[in-house]
Amino acid sequence: MNAYVIEFAYLVSAALFILGIKGLTKPKTAVRGNLLAAIGMLVALVATLTHKEVLAYEWIIAGMILGGLIGAVMAIKVQMTAMPQMVAALNGFGGGASLFVAWAEFEKSMQPATGVQAIMASMQHGGGSSIEMVTLVATGVAVLIGAVTLTGSLVAFAKLQEFVISGKPIGFKGMQAVTAALLLVALCAIGAIAQDYHPQTLFIALVIAALLLGLLLVLPIGGADMPVVIALLNSYSGIAASAAGFIMGNTALIVTGALVGASGIILTQIMCKAMNRSLTNVLFGVMAPAGSGPSDDEVYGGKVKSAGAEEIAMLLESARRVVIVPGFGLAMSQAQHAVRDLTDTMEGLGIEVEFAIHPVAGRMPGHMNVLLAEAEISYDKLVEMDRINPTFEQTDVAIVIGANDVTNPMAREDKGSPIYGMPILNVDKAKTVVVIKRSLSSGFAGLPNPLFAAENTLMLFGDGKKAVLDLVAALKEG
Ligand code: NDP
Repeated sequence: MNAYVIEFAYLVSAALFILGIKGLTKPKTAVRGNLLAAIGMLVALVATLTHKEVLAYEWIIAGMILGGLIGAVMAIKVQMTAMPQMVAALNGFGGGASLFVAWAEFEKSMQPATGVQAIMASMQHGGGSSIEMVTLVATGVAVLIGAVTLTGSLVAFAKLQEFVISGKPIGFKGMQAVTAALLLVALCAIGAIAQDYHPQTLFIALVIAALLLGLLLVLPIGGADMPVVIALLNSYSGIAASAAGFIMGNTALIVTGALVGASGIILTQIMCKAMNRSLTNVLFGVMAPAGSGPSDDEVYGGKVKSAGAEEIAMLLESARRVVIVPGFGLAMSQAQHAVRDLTDTMEGLGIEVEFAIHPVAGRMPGHMNVLLAEAEISYDKLVEMDRINPTFEQTDVAIVIGANDVTNPMAREDKGSPIYGMPILNVDKAKTVVVIKRSLSSGFAGLPNPLFAAENTLMLFGDGKKAVLDLVAALKEG
């Protein structure tokens, strides 16, 4: 295909990516957004495959079939709750791809130029070198960030999956000094490579230092902070792809990489804000130990009241407004369809039902939205934290299903608490709170929750899905 046509196709695909991202900002337009971005990717792929530098298709087609098959199997098999580790693995592959592209381009550029190439190079650069300094720097950056993303993401995957290593922070004495030294080695190597100084040997040193750097940066971070790290690594994979685009002079890769890089950083910031943590705090792990607050006995001792499904159904029958607060336990028990039944039943009784969505409920951004959408619960009923919080005082019953940290009043009231300052859903302001979970066990932050012992709280102990189905049955009987 003509070079201008290819560049135009890249422009079209970039516009489709931007429209796609815009669509993804609202649940109603998300499916269309996803489709637009997928079409953008198809346009970019077809344009690239028609480039005159693509000389043979066998390996490309083999790679597409194999990659497509693996992707399809993963998309079907991987559980929603395992999505963060899947994203981690995919980020890692993206970083790895940029690393290999940069490596291949570097090797190609190091081949002695012959014939016409040599004449062209000497005309362009006034010497034998066939590669410009800016390209060498871009190569170094793509290798550094690509390799850090590759090994960092693999560690993130292993921690979340508890595969070979546990989710606990792993470190050794002097680790930060070693990390700083590796970063220095990598930066010096990039500087020297850009000056064309022993490039081949230094290139290998750069690859090794960057791979180790990725390991050492993520190993000391606890599994709890992994989703934030994954958002950050996602951003890194975009920057690496953008650098790879510079090396190859591929506009589509530069633009897509920049979009991924920017959106990853924005997502990282949103997550940090919703958890009331700074990025440095996440990366250098200074979360207060979970044991530093009051003990379970101090919080719960003799104060927790539990009730059965029938009692709670009676309470609901006299309610006018109910807010459902979903959390990680809803995902674990796969209660979304049961929750849909409960919503329909309550609405059938003339009760107004809304859902309170906390930005970090569950284990990944948008986790609750995705689950509730799967059960075809109308988007209009999902209300974000800032909008729903002022309405709790006019709410007769708040039903908390498998949510814990995102409702913990200690985040609002207890200055000594490790989660102090994290914005929460003010469910305790509702007239009555019903909490559905299996026990008084803590959530992700490992802290007791005074909400469970509050005057106006009733605990309905049990698996999320079963408890909700019991409630539906009791409401239908009553
Ligand atoms: P939590 O992790 O605080 O609590 C989940 C609760 O679900 C547990 O207390 C557990 O109690 C209960 N549960 C587990 N399985 C079931 C089941 N089968 N049936 C019923 N209940 C069950 O979840 P939240 O959603 O409230 O908070 C999310 C946490 O994750 C926050 O601390 C947030 O900072 C963190 N986080 C979120 C990220 C995101 O992007 N969403 C990213 C990184 C961290 P029990 O065992 O007693 O049943």
